[in-house]
Amino acid sequence: MAGNLELLSVYLSGQSEPCPACRYDLRDLRGRTCPECGERLRLAVGLVEPKLGTFLVGVVGLAVAVGFVGLGFLFVAIEVLAGRLKPSNLSLAEPQMLIAYLALLFSSLGLFAWLRHYRRLRRKSDGVRWTYAVLCWVPALITLALESVLEL
Ligand SMILES: [Zn+2]
Repeated sequence: MAGNLELLSVYLSGQSEPCPACRYDLRDLRGRTCPECGERLRLAVGLVEPKLGTFLVGVVGLAVAVGFVGLGFLFVAIEVLAGRLKPSNLSLAEPQMLIAYLALLFSSLGLFAWLRHYRRLRRKSDGVRWTYAVLCWVPALITLALESVLEL
């Protein structure tokens, strides 16, 4: 069976195809690196429709929650380390803090699961995928609502 380099050369023989990195025309390329940008190339099979919409909606929703709550905790830690906030003044056991801990926990676990298992979900119907993608925004909406109520 022909190797990937040989198949790549056959595919590009007499055919214009832009380099995925720099858009340089790879027509009649003989090697496996782009002569313009030096990136290594390979011939691959791709999906006609990668269904990235629901994947991105889910990732962004979970990342917003992780980033928002995580930055809040990071800000408090910096204030404590800089001596501008005393640890004894922190109300770490109040209900809103418990909600923030849970939001951070669930959004972190959700982000990990989303990145790890999305391939299985992409085989499901559009309705199932969009339901999960919208659910990924629940922790972010809870934390944003909590922050606006508390005016933190
Ligand atoms: Zn290139």
